[in-house]
Amino acid sequence: MTDGPTYGFDTLQIHAGARPDPATGARQTPIYQTTAYVFRDADHAAALFNLQEVGYIYSRLTNPTVAVLQERVATLEGGVGAVCCSSGHAAQIMALFPLMEPGRNVVASTRLYGGTVTQFSQTIKRFGWSAKFVDFDDPKAVADAIDEDTRAVFGESIANPGGYVTDIRSIADVADAAGVPLIIDNTSATPYLCRPIEQGATLVVHSTTKYLTGNGTVTGGCVVDSGTFDWSASDKFPSLSAPEPAYHGLRFHETFGGLAYTFHGIAIGLRDLGMTMNPQAAHYTLMGIETLSLRMQRHVENAEKVAAWLEKDDRVDYVTYAGLPSSPYHDRAKKHYPHGAGGLFTFAVKGGYDACVKLVNSLEIFSHVANLGDARSLIIHSASTTHRQLTPEQQEAAGAGPGVVRVSIGIEDADDLIADLDKALAAACG
Ligand SMILES: *Cc1c(COP(=O)(O)O)cnc(C)c1O
Repeated sequence: MTDGPTYGFDTLQIHAGARPDPATGARQTPIYQTTAYVFRDADHAAALFNLQEVGYIYSRLTNPTVAVLQERVATLEGGVGAVCCSSGHAAQIMALFPLMEPGRNVVASTRLYGGTVTQFSQTIKRFGWSAKFVDFDDPKAVADAIDEDTRAVFGESIANPGGYVTDIRSIADVADAAGVPLIIDNTSATPYLCRPIEQGATLVVHSTTKYLTGNGTVTGGCVVDSGTFDWSASDKFPSLSAPEPAYHGLRFHETFGGLAYTFHGIAIGLRDLGMTMNPQAAHYTLMGIETLSLRMQRHVENAEKVAAWLEKDDRVDYVTYAGLPSSPYHDRAKKHYPHGAGGLFTFAVKGGYDACVKLVNSLEIFSHVANLGDARSLIIHSASTTHRQLTPEQQEAAGAGPGVVRVSIGIEDADDLIADLDKALAAACG
């Protein structure tokens, strides 16, 4: 299927990027479990290696099963191309890699996935990169944080786990004015609830591990390019605009235009960093994406019911879910995320840290795991797990204080989820 944009989301989530297998007619996308691909002849091989012809060389760079997933996610996000990789965190490094050099920085939201805060505040320093964390509710503070060495602005659409939704347009305007790309992590929202490129983002990253796969089977990541950024407008992005020594002085932007960033991601990023998605993982994620909209509708419906029930319960201090009218982000969510505010939220239990520990130990349907976006309901006590590497201030800023648990509401019967929470809260607070 090639005419993507004329079809609706439900059609594209099943068909985009896929076509019957040319060799066998297989209707479902085969798992091309192969490392290498036979060249037609020596000239064909040379053309592929020179990037003069697009084709398959070696599965560290490209694989036909993974290529279908790349085209599918790019289509659903409204981008021109995508590069899949081995995990969401790999996708974040892959997204920054063409933009950064030693001494450069990324201006990032204070409200991010805990692992991203650690990756940005600690690990990227080893590359000579750094991050400045700013409140994305204050576009002026974002503008002030951008300096001569800033090469990207990074935030999440629906930020995990604090019940925060970003006004992407307001941040995109700031990034545009400064001539740097805006990267949005759209993992928690998925393209069904939010399409960051339509709101001005340059790049979108995903942990496909979560809702896109939707059943907790494989890790994966994806970087989607809008194709709209002018990499040659300044000398800030030499990897994309200047001659590339490893390809005989080829300039990616001049040669590939809107696809420059995607080609760079494959030809340099995957080639040299090797954070490749394997074809089995791509298969599981393709299976998941076929039902993305149906699952997201149910995740949202259940999250709204469970959050409303919790908010009325005496044993609960507060619930942070942008889908609740009490949330300070409710109006923003209704405006920018009209299909709902997702399936994740946090709530604070009266009784603090100890009550949270008892709660997670007492639940039967909810599993205590470090994951989200599964068909089954999940819970985690962030302060003792995903956010334990953060300082107390960072924990509070991320909405993950000691008395707070995060839930990822699954697609089971909402009444069963409420009954499970009711019983476990009785054990925790009784
Ligand atoms: C899980 C997650 C990541 C990291 O993805 P992995 O696949 O676990 O590497 C990044 N951002 C968000 C919002 C996530 O939920």
